Amino acid sequence: MKLHEYQSKAIFANYGIPIPKGSVVSNAEEARQIAAQLGTKVVVKAQVLVGGRGKAGGVKVAATPDEAEQIADQILSMEIKGLPVRKVLVDEALNIAREIYLGIVVDRAARRATVIASAAGGMDIEEVARTAPEKIIRKAIDPALGLQGYQAREIAFGIGMDKALVREFTQIADGLYRAFQRTDASLAEINPLVVTAEGKLIAADGKIVVDDNALYRHADLEQLRDADEESESEQRARKAGLSFVKLDGDIGCMVNGAGLAMATMDVIKFYDGEPANFLDIGGGAKADKVKAALEIILSDPNVKAVLFNIFGGITRGDEVAQGIVDGLKAVNAHVPMIARIVGTNAEEGRRILASANMITAETLEEGAQKAVAAAKSNGR
Ligand code: GDP
Ligand code: MN
Repeated sequence: MKLHEYQSKAIFANYGIPIPKGSVVSNAEEARQIAAQLGTKVVVKAQVLVGGRGKAGGVKVAATPDEAEQIADQILSMEIKGLPVRKVLVDEALNIAREIYLGIVVDRAARRATVIASAAGGMDIEEVARTAPEKIIRKAIDPALGLQGYQAREIAFGIGMDKALVREFTQIADGLYRAFQRTDASLAEINPLVVTAEGKLIAADGKIVVDDNALYRHADLEQLRDADEESESEQRARKAGLSFVKLDGDIGCMVNGAGLAMATMDVIKFYDGEPANFLDIGGGAKADKVKAALEIILSDPNVKAVLFNIFGGITRGDEVAQGIVDGLKAVNAHVPMIARIVGTNAEEGRRILASANMITAETLEEGAQKAVAAAKSNGR
């Protein structure tokens, strides 16, 4: 789950990271009031969960409260990369002398949280990594020791930080790591970390991505979720405890197990089909989950057939089949349903499915080919 800039910066502030004064607002009149209260030049910033807002015209400096109102009005009517802007952050504007990149990510290869820093901040760090990798400094963090003072100092010197600011920088890096750790983040980023003309360090932008698998223990962060940023079907799936990703194809996929779901999509594509979704209904296949999953899959008008790929392991195949049949009864299944089921009691499971008018298959190849054929003959 991504947090907005204003949410991320509020968290950073709790860890001692300096942030500009400001407030988030949802209309232009409020933007004018905040600018008047701050009594300085301000920067008006679109709060949408995508990067590159600056380049898209979603970040603008205003010299007066009137101008802040005008700019806020304009930014609030924008869409950035398909997302409507519903809120803007009005922050005191900074006199920027330098822009630094400072981020912490999980480096899967190193199996460590890793600090990434660059003197070439402000712009796309991916672009810097591609064109000038030598400008990027990385330090893996030992989870038992945390970010060590010497590591933070090496980073500071590596990006050519002014000697007078090294201590402040190491405190910011330390705060960022603590924020990353305490929020179970997969990413915590300040881009840019600004060196002001007055010689101060301040986080002008902020981004935190919280690991979804840790949200169960962060009720406070869950509150920060922006419902607008998720498609309706993804929202429904999350509430039903299903892992669901909407895709553009026409073959709905209902699979128990994430790895099996990936393999199912691959085999559909191998036979020249296009999956309409990734869906992992988890272990077994209880009727209520099947029902919720089917409703989500069938609400997509592109879906011309649904392929069930079920492995009966701990849950027996006949139990799973019964769950599917019960789930099917509860929805209006208007497209062909193909089921491949293997594992414990698979034959009995197939019998139950066939008696409910489902097309059955013994292998995934057979199931995928039948699903592709069914989708094609169903007006593709
Ligand atoms: P992003 O494009 O979505 O990453 O949004 P940022 O918050 O990083 O802003 C983009 C750019 O706007 C920054 O790299 C800065 O160059 C500029 N910017 C942001 N805040 C200020 C500010 O207070 N004053 C000035 N002059 N420029 C700013
Ligand atoms: Mn930025």
